[in-house]
Amino acid sequence: MTENAEATRMSTPPEGQPSTNHPASPAATAHTTHHGHEGTFVRPSDLLRPRTVSRPKAPPKPERPIDRDERTGLKAIRDFLRVRNCYEVLPLSFRLIELDVGLTVKESLNIMVQCNIVSAPLWDSTTSTYAGLLTVNDYLNVVRYYNLHADKLKDVDKLLLTDLKEVEKFLNVKPPETVSASPETVLYDALRKQLLSRARRIPLVSYDSDTQRTMVVSVITQYRILKFIAMNVKETEMLRKPLEMIKLGTYGNIVRCSMDTTVLDVIDEMVVKNISSVPVVTTEGVLLNVFEAVDVIEILKTGDYGNLTWTVGKALAARSPTHPGIYCCSLEDGLDTIFDTIRKSRVHRLMIVDENNYLKGVLSLGDILHYILVEGQEDAQS
Ligand code: ATP
Repeated sequence: MTENAEATRMSTPPEGQPSTNHPASPAATAHTTHHGHEGTFVRPSDLLRPRTVSRPKAPPKPERPIDRDERTGLKAIRDFLRVRNCYEVLPLSFRLIELDVGLTVKESLNIMVQCNIVSAPLWDSTTSTYAGLLTVNDYLNVVRYYNLHADKLKDVDKLLLTDLKEVEKFLNVKPPETVSASPETVLYDALRKQLLSRARRIPLVSYDSDTQRTMVVSVITQYRILKFIAMNVKETEMLRKPLEMIKLGTYGNIVRCSMDTTVLDVIDEMVVKNISSVPVVTTEGVLLNVFEAVDVIEILKTGDYGNLTWTVGKALAARSPTHPGIYCCSLEDGLDTIFDTIRKSRVHRLMIVDENNYLKGVLSLGDILHYILVEGQEDAQS
């Protein structure tokens, strides 16, 4: 291509729009070339007239039944989320355990273990206000802090929940993003907001006009939302497209560990990569188990931070016998079967494996929610 021709291509007006270029300019040449009349003289009026002949468009491919069903299934879920509010996600009866920010980290751990919970809203009784969420990430930060500050370990039992902000600052980690919503917020709106923020939970905070105070009603998790969908939207059955086809989940650069990796190293990886689990594999890549961030709570409950030099194998062996185990699926599975599993069991993530149990990918609940809310949205808007 000559230099002139290159310039021509750059200045061609968009189809159907009049050009303001001079006829002798390269743009004019391009116009004629386009129609296969190379060398023909073009009058300015030709260029000003909107073109009537448009390039024939390829006829749209007929939609395959599997694509149509997927689209219908996703639409049904979104329509459902648009007519439900956050309050409706909560079960008929539930408990809320709120922790006062004046508690020590050790006390909070004991409560978490006793009540079998992995996160709790914080309450500042000096101001009678909601003070954020305590999650397992806070404990991971504490572990990393004492790992760098072994000299301070003797005072670990005195560490208060209010000190966690200092720990974050010291480690230079961003405070966790939280998106609270009022219980009346439309579920779809609350979820879109959550998606933008990368928060994993939504505390429902309501305002009491009598006392003029805010109070936390509950916290909704990704699992609870997906379970709510699984229980109420029959069209989840239509989401038959295999994971491989919809490219759902993470397949590249999966953070893995072996049974011999130390818990401390796994914690570092989870914090740095901002993930909540690490699959445990053999040297060949066969999936053996999954180390979860919540496993750290069990290990820390004795207050013995020395236990973190444990290997992953030892930590997994110390799990409660009632641990539900891990959930797996294959690349051929669609969200229909995955929703079926969510309907029946308390799933927090799925490991994607092949028929020989080789680890292929990780499917998190966040990945599923993102797909449900976002997939095909651009097409629908255009
Ligand atoms: P949570 O499980 O805490 O509710 P989540 O559903 O967002 O949150 P994460 O484990 O934090 O799940 O995963 C965040 C992203 O990282 C997801 O896209 C997930 O596929 C990916 N991911 C999860 N675990 C790993 C891992 N071990 N290696 C690489 N990527 C991972």
